[in-house]
Parts: sequence; structure tokens; C-alpha cells
Amino acid sequence: MHPHASAPAATWTLGDITVHRVDEIALPPQTGPWLLPGATPQVVSQHPWLKPSFADESGVLRLASHTFALIAGGRRVLIDTGIGNAKPRANPAWHGLDTDYLTRLAAIGFTPESVDLVVMTHLHTDHVGWNTTAHEGSWVPTFPRARYLTTRTEWDFWSSTELDEPRAQMFRDSIHPVRDAGLLDVVDMPPAGGAPIAPGLTLVPTPGHTPGHVAVRLDSRGAEGLVTGDCIHHPVQLADTGLGSCVDIDPGLAASTRRALLAEVADTDTLVLGSHFPAPAAGHVVTQGDAYRFVPAGDRHVSSSRGAGA
Ligand SMILES: [Zn+2]
Repeated sequence: MHPHASAPAATWTLGDITVHRVDEIALPPQTGPWLLPGATPQVVSQHPWLKPSFADESGVLRLASHTFALIAGGRRVLIDTGIGNAKPRANPAWHGLDTDYLTRLAAIGFTPESVDLVVMTHLHTDHVGWNTTAHEGSWVPTFPRARYLTTRTEWDFWSSTELDEPRAQMFRDSIHPVRDAGLLDVVDMPPAGGAPIAPGLTLVPTPGHTPGHVAVRLDSRGAEGLVTGDCIHHPVQLADTGLGSCVDIDPGLAASTRRALLAEVADTDTLVLGSHFPAPAAGHVVTQGDAYRFVPAGDRHVSSSRGAGA
């Protein structure tokens, strides 16, 4: 029932920042063809490095739902909160889940009361689910001491958009209880660059998938990391940077954001942590021809001690 229940969390160290991948579920095989319709088995087979780690033998993409938990400057930070348990959802793969996510989070020392900050890369259903849990018939914030953070652009976009019923349900059960408890921080972003939100943590505006989407840059003692959120869904988008997801709100902007980000991290020591990449989900972007490939990093990888070209 819970394939990851006994697996230890994957952990990486970037200077003074420790990052854990906290698994929720492996997304079912039908996710890839739906999410990235351009990534057909024929396209996947043109990039042999994708198999078997990132696609199965028949060319179906592997995708996962997990979040990243880290300690920076003594603060416990969660980046995104997955799909959540027991949520009524239109997508059957996300509906009424019953996973051990909170147990896995507690096992690495992140009890609900200990979390200081929850960063939402964007306000999509599979990134806000554990914001709340069911308690005596209502949805209450899972992390009662945390500030939950979204960007002004993201908040204003959804506030001024007419929501279909599934999305309205998501706001009712996963966003509004946080706001109503006074735990939501809507932050203004500078027009370029980022804003530090905790020691070594910077939000990077990465619009296109949603208007106020942010990636999260980690920076400690010369070691750098980048949590993608959904500006890159899968390593196949490194091989073909034009491949967009069906849920990108502005596909053209999403593609230019993706290309700019990849050009920035390519052939550097920056540890890229993919929010839907299959395990280990972290690695390095390396130039290949006129595009890139993804080189996974082992667990407990210490970026600052990585040899050049390793
Ligand atoms: Zn997502």
C-alpha cells in the first residue's frame, strides 16, 4: 500500500543547508502522456539516457509527487506540500489518498509543530495538499506554527480568476483554512532577481506554468541548489526544451523561462531538485548537443565537495 513507507528519505547537503526529499506517491503511468503530451515514446527513444531511470522500457515517463524539507539558518522549511490525504479531487490518482507522508516527515525530525515556513511554488492542487488535514469534520492547517508563503502575482491571479468547481474545492480545503488562521503570507516580488525568505533561500520568479510561479534557490557557503517547482516537470524537458505541459497557463512564457533557467544551471555545480522528477530527483544539468541531459546525484551528495566534471 505504501511502497515508500520504509525507505529512508534521500538527503543532500549544500554548505550548511540539509535538504531531504519526502516522498508522497509515484504518479501513475498515465500521468506522463497526459501532462507532457509531446513526450511520446518516439521522442523519448531519441534520448537513450532517459531509460531506465526517467522512463520505462516502453518510453512512458516516470513522475513522482514528493516535497523537499530543509533546515536553513535553524529554520525548518517545507517547499510545497504535495497532494495531501483524503482530499476530494477530480483526478482519480489524487483523490482520497491515504499515505504515510506525515510519518516520513516526522521521521526526519519535521513534526508538524516544528515547521517554521511553507513555501508554495504555485497554487496548484498537487503542491498545496498537506497545507491542511482533516480534523473533526473540517480542514485545519497541518503546520500550526508555520508561515505559508505565496507570491502576490500568484495570489492576485487566482483571486481574479473564475474557478471551476474542482479548483474552488482545492482553495476551500487547502488554501482558505490557512488564510483564515492568519498563517498566509502573500509576498511582493521584485521585478527581477529574487527575495531572500530565509538564510540561504531565495525565491526565483519563473512564470509561465502559472503567472506567479517561483523556483527556490538554495545558497550556502558556495554550494548552490535549485528546487524547480513546476517550471520543469521532467528531465525529458532538458532533452527537448520546447516540450511543455498541458497545464502551463502561458506555454510560450513557460518555455522561455525553462530555457533561461537551464542555461543558467547547465554545467555548473548547482544541484537541481525536481519537484516531480523520479527518485533520486536531484542531480546536475549537463550540456548535450544543442540541449541538455540530467545526471542524477546520489543521496547525501555534498555539492561543495563535488569534483569538476564528476
Ligand atoms: Zn505539479
